[in-house]
Amino acid sequence: MPEGPEIHRAAAQLAKVLVGAPLERVFFAFPALKPYEPQLQTQKVLQVQARGKAMLIHFEQGLTIYSHNQLYGVWKVVKAGGEPVTARQLRLGLYTPKKSALLYSASDIAVLDPLGLEQHPYLTRLGPDVVDPETSLETVLARYQDKAWQRKRLISLLLDQHFLGGLGNYLRSEILFVAGVPPTYRPIDCSPKQCQRLAEASLHLPRQSFATAGITNDLERVEKLKAVGISRTHYRFYVFDRAGEPCYTCGTLIVRIEAGGRRLYYCPHCQAH
Ligand SMILES: [Zn+2]
Repeated sequence: MPEGPEIHRAAAQLAKVLVGAPLERVFFAFPALKPYEPQLQTQKVLQVQARGKAMLIHFEQGLTIYSHNQLYGVWKVVKAGGEPVTARQLRLGLYTPKKSALLYSASDIAVLDPLGLEQHPYLTRLGPDVVDPETSLETVLARYQDKAWQRKRLISLLLDQHFLGGLGNYLRSEILFVAGVPPTYRPIDCSPKQCQRLAEASLHLPRQSFATAGITNDLERVEKLKAVGISRTHYRFYVFDRAGEPCYTCGTLIVRIEAGGRRLYYCPHCQAH
């Protein structure tokens, strides 16, 4: 499932193709949205925005296409006239003279007016977006210190889009590791220093992942690992997907557990109680 950094990268890619370019055609697969096709294909796209795991494509006359990829949705950008080889169902197509931006498999697509956008249930309840450069460390730290969240387990909070927007499964493991926090903790169990480190990692890791197409590991270490021929699978993360491999910091073997039905990886030494 794509997490915030991947959605933000997709938004940046779509913005390059769509913003300001004349649209030649808009295609919606869902019959309820078809009536918007003629209206939208005469307009320009003003902005493409990622919000948590949702994508917003804003048009000049005030309408916005909202889409949420959930588990299966995927955006593909191809040259005009091209079609990616895929067995997936096309759900939304935005066609310019040069490129086509195509959304496959997503089922959560809507066209919203400004009021609809303001009242959308996913967007109104979304926590501060960790990839958005406007989100400050103070805001995120306040979230960890907020009584409303303090007694909930971090393994749930770090997947909860209402707590912080844009986190997801690999970021959950990576943030806990970088903050040196055991996966069993709630914010209230953390020392002030651990809270501070959680807040810092909650911004730093998604932003680095956005900038590097998915790498959360220490970048100096990544360069050293690359230089000796280590593959991306092995240098990408601190702990995620590394069960049975030695921790880069202390050499202890990384452990995999199930937490809330999703896999979680941690170092029993660096994240000891
Ligand atoms: Zn360790």
